[in-house]
Amino acid sequence: MIPGPVEFEEEVLRALGAPSLSHTDPAFIVTFGRALQRLREVCLAPSAQPFVVSGSGTLAMEMAVANLVEPGDAALVVNTGYFSDRMAKILERHGAKVTHVRASPGDAPTVEEVKARLERGGFKVMTVTHVDTSTGVLAPVEGLVKAARALGVLSVVDGVCATAGEVFHQDAWGADVYLTASQKAVGVPPGLALVTASPQAMAAWKGRKAPVASVYSDWAEWLPIMEAYAGGKPSYFATPPVNLVSALDVSLGQILAEGMEARFSRHQRLARAFRAAWSALGLRLLPVSEAVTANTLSAVYYPEGVDASLVGRVKAEGVVIAGGLHPDLKTRYFRVGHMNRVGPGDVLVTVGAVERALLAAGHRAEAGAGLRAAESVLAAR
Ligand code: PMP
Repeated sequence: MIPGPVEFEEEVLRALGAPSLSHTDPAFIVTFGRALQRLREVCLAPSAQPFVVSGSGTLAMEMAVANLVEPGDAALVVNTGYFSDRMAKILERHGAKVTHVRASPGDAPTVEEVKARLERGGFKVMTVTHVDTSTGVLAPVEGLVKAARALGVLSVVDGVCATAGEVFHQDAWGADVYLTASQKAVGVPPGLALVTASPQAMAAWKGRKAPVASVYSDWAEWLPIMEAYAGGKPSYFATPPVNLVSALDVSLGQILAEGMEARFSRHQRLARAFRAAWSALGLRLLPVSEAVTANTLSAVYYPEGVDASLVGRVKAEGVVIAGGLHPDLKTRYFRVGHMNRVGPGDVLVTVGAVERALLAAGHRAEAGAGLRAAESVLAAR
């Protein structure tokens, strides 16, 4: 129950364990082409160009930046924590002049603040972390990307801890690049960088003057490959991770079979059950308000008298959770991921384990209070 890698479906794991086909095998070409189309559907981005590349989420971040940013371009980072800082580092490495709009830990900048900064002009791109995995903060992405689009600024949304878990309508909202990785709500073991780029993002890339400063990230290398697979033809630039791509195709198929709206609301319902449990146990969340609280993970302060050894105690109760990640607060809170195949049973098992560990650590709460609160949310359909 950590915020990635998460637990994966049997059928997805079987695709990983199958014999590896040639990347030019007709059966694999069909699989890859279908996975690309499914990725568009999961991101609700029928007009976008998908890219599926071997790498982690950090490569997806770098691919977005490398293709859109030229040295000297101004970039606005909507900064909600650890992964926004990483985005700023990548932007700077590619020569961007970075301005941050920050909020205190546990909060997100408002759409109005960001809009006011964008209106002062000069920005080519705005980046936003959909869910900051370090703090469990959900950014007001819809308003932010709509504001950027209205002002002609390209938006890059890091969906690593959000895609296929948090509501996102790439085309309808006008987000230019949605980037993610395989190992969280997308439901595939680590190893794939996934990017969907709007026609505006592709046009900005085509119009650039400076060459892309990374061969491996360059859309000039990957676009013909993605187009070939989508068109049912063999092609090669760098060997694709054939088993991971097959596993991605299976998982995206399962996600679409569940339905995007149903999947988003399942994540919301389970997150509500967790929140009810944390509150009944007298625990406080890192996110400062419901509006900025993610549905894909919980970030929860240790109560007074309890320290980071709680994570080990919960493990001894049979559930693996994560410690904090925010540099200033990391010893003060724990994180529980609730993505992908998580269901009501996982909520109850996890809440029970945390509850028992808290009581053993000396926290004063009524045994069963968290479980009852979670169950009352889960039972209220
Ligand atoms: N962005 C966010 C929001 C993340 O949570 C992570 C990883 N946890 C990354 C980027 C980086 O992804 P990776 O570790 O796969 O490189």
